[in-house]
Amino acid sequence: MALNLIMLGPPGAGKGTQAERLAREHRIPKISTGDMLRAAAQDGTEIGRRAQAIMDRGELVSDDVMIGIVSDRLARPDVACGFILDGFPRTVAQATALDAIMDRRDPLIVVEIVVPEPELVRRLSTRMICESCGRTADIPPRGIRPGDPGQGRTEAGDRCAFCGGKLVQRTDDSDVVVRERLRVYRTNTKPLVDFYKNRATFRSVNGAQAPDQVAAELAAEIAAARNGRVGGRL
Ligand code: AMP
Repeated sequence: MALNLIMLGPPGAGKGTQAERLAREHRIPKISTGDMLRAAAQDGTEIGRRAQAIMDRGELVSDDVMIGIVSDRLARPDVACGFILDGFPRTVAQATALDAIMDRRDPLIVVEIVVPEPELVRRLSTRMICESCGRTADIPPRGIRPGDPGQGRTEAGDRCAFCGGKLVQRTDDSDVVVRERLRVYRTNTKPLVDFYKNRATFRSVNGAQAPDQVAAELAAEIAAARNGRVGGRL
């Protein structure tokens, strides 16, 4: 059975980090709509330029554009064994469109990562992103532990531990924009929990733990959801 997974949760919950890990373990693509939009913006495409302005305000790109992008992406053959969606769906309209795209495919497994808002604000204010490879890193603590790719900052300064690229703050991680993104999340995306919560394949995990613990909880919940066991919310 293909692993068709959605990571649901507010900005800063750790969706991207966990999605990357799961994608590696299961050898399936991680599909991050935020990464796709940032890549389009860097390429200077029309959609990219328009998306950048919207992202800089912390608002959402239109459902039509996002549904088009994801529907094209999920038509590619590399999703045959599954995929991990990070950052999509973000509205009920997108979730409804995704159900239509998933018709006759293996069921979606939906995992919500729950993190209290003060912790999200703290995390986003210290988050850096590599200009070259797009990987995320935290500012503190300084230094990298050997074999721990999650730390991402070299002792020499603001450099990516993976590729040596320059670490910068995401333009939408500034205080004002973070507040707007969290508001947009509460208004537009949080209702997706109600949209999905009665499905047997919906799960919640506690995201306010160390990444390894979140990963372990996620793995257990995903396995349980795939085996069709009844789940529960936090
Ligand atoms: P992310 O990297 O997931 O935090 O996304 C960064 C920004 O990209 C968001 O704040 C939105 O402006 C835009 N974006 C990403 N995914 C979506 C989506 N599914 N629907 C609308 N806008 C999106």
